[in-house]
Amino acid sequence: MINGGVSFWYASTAIPRRRAPLPGDAEADVCIVGGGFTGLWTAYYLKRARPELEVVVLEREFAGYGASGRNGGWLSSAFNGSRPAMAARHGEAAVIALSRAMQETVDEVLGVCEAEGIVADQLKRGMLTVARNPAQAARLAAGLPAVRRWLPDGEDDVVALTRDEVAARVHVEGGLSGWFTPHAARVQPAKLVQGLAAAVERLGVRIYEQTAVRAIEPGRAVADSGAVVRARHVLMCLEGFTPGIEGQKRTWLPLNSAMVATAPLDDATWAQVGWTGAELLGDGAHAYMYAQRTADGRIALGGRGVPYRFGSKTDRDGVTQQQTIDQLVGIVRDMFGPALREVPIEHAWCGVLGVPRDWSPTVALDPATGIGMAGGYVGNGVATTNLAGRTLRDLVLGADTELTRLPWVGKAARRWEPEPLRWIGSRLVYGLYRAADRREMEAGTARTSRLATVASALSGRHD
Ligand SMILES: Cc1cc2nc3c(=O)[nH]c(=O)nc-3n(C[C@H](O)[C@H](O)[C@H](O)COP(=O)(O)OP(=O)(O)OC[C@H]3O[C@@H](n4cnc5c(N)ncnc54)[C@H](O)[C@@H]3O)c2cc1C
Repeated sequence: MINGGVSFWYASTAIPRRRAPLPGDAEADVCIVGGGFTGLWTAYYLKRARPELEVVVLEREFAGYGASGRNGGWLSSAFNGSRPAMAARHGEAAVIALSRAMQETVDEVLGVCEAEGIVADQLKRGMLTVARNPAQAARLAAGLPAVRRWLPDGEDDVVALTRDEVAARVHVEGGLSGWFTPHAARVQPAKLVQGLAAAVERLGVRIYEQTAVRAIEPGRAVADSGAVVRARHVLMCLEGFTPGIEGQKRTWLPLNSAMVATAPLDDATWAQVGWTGAELLGDGAHAYMYAQRTADGRIALGGRGVPYRFGSKTDRDGVTQQQTIDQLVGIVRDMFGPALREVPIEHAWCGVLGVPRDWSPTVALDPATGIGMAGGYVGNGVATTNLAGRTLRDLVLGADTELTRLPWVGKAARRWEPEPLRWIGSRLVYGLYRAADRREMEAGTARTSRLATVASALSGRHD
């Protein structure tokens, strides 16, 4: 089994050849730091709107090295954060407008793929959330009205499924009930991000790779090499890597997410698993899992694993801990039962996503300094980065649009606690979530474990 190699998605394609680094000082209208989905979508929409703008992307490794080339490929309309809190500040209509914008974003990404000839195994078949024990089933049933309340088409946006309706789509051990939403598509993330980088380059954006930035200041980004890019606007698009920039150590917490991919399943095994629709698949656990049926007939499944590394450190090339691999392999075997017991696991990897202190994303630009940023998507970044890119375009261009009026624009959150509190807190919270999941599985009752309630209160997570 391969551990790392950035991700399985690159093992199944190829690690791209790195573009040249920034050769020395440079000038631009917009300097984007970070070549993941956030940075590349922003570059794409800026250049489409104003071809005359000089747009430069600075990337430490290669475009798509971070979470954008490692994720579960859930292109979904999910958006983190407390809807009641958002509605209290901006009104209910603004929250529903955000939900609609996220649903449209899924189709926007698929539309750009079509227009730019990006083949990324995209398939819009929706998303299934399955309850794997009575406590999860009770939570899904009780949570449905609250979820629908903030969606434009309520009952059509999330459909409740019975045990048989779930089983007709996929055979999950102990599957009791579920939700289905049509607003989600599967993608192969490395193909999407590589295709997007090529499209951005075709538009005339300069992408410099092997160029780490250490400081972002009004009007300039300073590379580790000492070279400086001067620009009216400098945009920080680094999500889980944000703590690496001077002064940003406590802005967002780099939370680990890890995945495993099985060997391709044969037809007989697929017949046992079902899942012919290739919907995205998740469960109702507190430390939830996410999975996709890949275009080449594997199951790629992810979850939290070891949640956080001391001092906001990040992994090297996606190498993950054995403990994390064991947990994820356990989930594969438990979820799909005897059908998957003998199927080899061929690849494991991990990456970091960004979590703000209020567990809710933001996109912002300070017109005084020209510094902008977007991220903190808390694991729902594949589609949200596209909305962020279009919004950053409007903010840079000084346009007042429907996008710049959405309730996540300009939202500030307090900073994370200093170490060792961050480390202790994140280990404690995920330890409690996992213990709660175990207890709920063993107890077999409809009651949500109190440990999970304590964990959510400690972390400040509301979703
Ligand atoms: C394992 C995993 C699974 C996930 N699954 C899903 C999913 O299924 N669906 C979903 O919606 N979201 C998912 N996410 C989250 C989603 O992938 C991210 O939110 C999203 O890709 C963030 O994109 P980004 O461009 O903001 O950041 P990134 O893609 O992380 O890009 C940041 C870039 O900055 C570069 N960089 C770092 N430091 C510097 C520096 N100092 N100077 C210059 N460049 C630098 C990095 O090399 C990287 O390329 C997952 C994340 C992970 C880790």
